[in-house]
Amino acid sequence: MGSTDNDTERFFQSPVYDAEKRPRRPPSGQSICEPAREIPVHTRCGVLVVGGGPAGTAAAVAAARLGADVVLLERYNHLGGLSTGGLVIWIDRMTDWTGRHVIRGFAEEILDRLPAGSVAGPARAEWGSRNEGKAAFWSPRLAAFHGIVTHSPTLDPEWLKAESLELALTSGVHPIFHGWGVRPVVEDGRVTGCIFESKQGRRAILAKVTVDATGDGDLYAAAGAAHDATVKARDIHACMNTAWMFGGVDMAAFLEFRMEEPDQYAAFLALGREKLRYFEKAVVSWRDDIALFLGPRLAGYSALDIEDLSEVEIRSRRLMIEHLHFYRGHAPGFSNAHLLLSAPQIGVRHGRRLIGRSAVSRADWDGRVRADEIGVSPAPSPKFANVSIPYGALLPRDLKGLLAPGRHLACDIGSHTFLREIPQCWTTGQAAGVAAALAANADRDPGDVAVADIRAALVKQGAYLNPQPTPATAAG
Ligand SMILES: Cc1cc2nc3c(=O)[nH]c(=O)nc-3n(C[C@H](O)[C@H](O)[C@H](O)COP(=O)(O)OP(=O)(O)OC[C@H]3O[C@@H](n4cnc5c(N)ncnc54)[C@H](O)[C@@H]3O)c2cc1C
Repeated sequence: MGSTDNDTERFFQSPVYDAEKRPRRPPSGQSICEPAREIPVHTRCGVLVVGGGPAGTAAAVAAARLGADVVLLERYNHLGGLSTGGLVIWIDRMTDWTGRHVIRGFAEEILDRLPAGSVAGPARAEWGSRNEGKAAFWSPRLAAFHGIVTHSPTLDPEWLKAESLELALTSGVHPIFHGWGVRPVVEDGRVTGCIFESKQGRRAILAKVTVDATGDGDLYAAAGAAHDATVKARDIHACMNTAWMFGGVDMAAFLEFRMEEPDQYAAFLALGREKLRYFEKAVVSWRDDIALFLGPRLAGYSALDIEDLSEVEIRSRRLMIEHLHFYRGHAPGFSNAHLLLSAPQIGVRHGRRLIGRSAVSRADWDGRVRADEIGVSPAPSPKFANVSIPYGALLPRDLKGLLAPGRHLACDIGSHTFLREIPQCWTTGQAAGVAAALAANADRDPGDVAVADIRAALVKQGAYLNPQPTPATAAG
């Protein structure tokens, strides 16, 4: 168990813990046949978005705004995916290392809708600042890295749920909650909708274009599209955990302890690791009286294995209680801490990555602008250039009628470290929504939509794009 290493997330240094698996029930080795049956078609639409996380919500809104008839299917009861239900309330990062605001469009609009008091982060004038005092202030508050202040706020997940829903509804999206997309409908290599399970049983939604925004590529995998699910077991990507929040804390006192008494803070961390073995640092939230725990990161589990998912829930929830006792007893500012919320959605960083018509790879970190660019990501560190995201990374290589934005898009594992972040999922989701609407409105396949048209519509919706180096007409 419990060894730690330095194979950590780029901006959030934290250990990874090896899993010590509980005994598993032996596989039966048997199977049964499910009888064939007729399935009611619940509805038909222009664009079906499956998954209402950052990517799916942005896709649905973008498509509806272009006049498409959009249905958004979500298995839980809220929008936002991991950014709300997963308590991943740290939106990291929308500025590049010069302070330029490159994640815009849907991202900017949704954040602007959040009321005062529901977001914490540096003011716009501070983005990109290298002022030592400002960077020192924002660094422990998750909004300064490498001595540079960034636009990476923390926010109230309930407000993000509420405003995501309002934005979807007022844009004309028809949400369906409590429906789990289980099988794409595929005809002659083209996805024409999705079968879902609900309290009404098994039903289908038929669509001209389907957007797989499940995060784990559930639809494209079931449709037989090429994808990659491999990651190194101890890689941050393979880590899962269910996040939680404690209320009744004084984070200002905790941060003061962390900054002003580094030796005692180091001793506190060492004691935590010794006592709990799997130990996580508290980080700030949007309020001083709420602490966020985005770990301990448990390695060696698969997001595609039901027993692993169950075990991560069990371990995370036990660890939450152990952390409560430890922090109450040992952490300044935590003596009155109480359980506030364990995340309704398990924290999965990686399930599958699409094999697309093209992909984002390490070679893209040198600043080259892709001919079919549909979005721009800040670079993982100041030594790299902004990363141009090609349309082809959203298109399956061998399947029509479907787009795949969000954390399961086509990229190499290194690029996945930042393309899976919430801002980038908003970016690729918005692009997929625009492309899906253009395709559905014109009765075309998404792969046949002119990239110039997608880009023009994205710019109209407020997205940031690099000037295009060469004319582009299709995905490449
Ligand atoms: C612990 C942890 C810490 C992280 N830290 C950060 C961070 O600090 N900053 C940052 O920006 N990002 C962070 N991330 C990454 C980020 O939260 C996710 O990668 C991002 O939310 C992915 O967005 P998505 O829309 O692609 O998928 P998701 O957020 O996973 O949303 C997918 C949605 O689809 C729904 N769904 C899934 N399958 C189905 C189905 N079959 N049928 C119907 N609905 C379905 C889900 O319920 C969910 O609502 C972190 C992730 C984790 C797990």
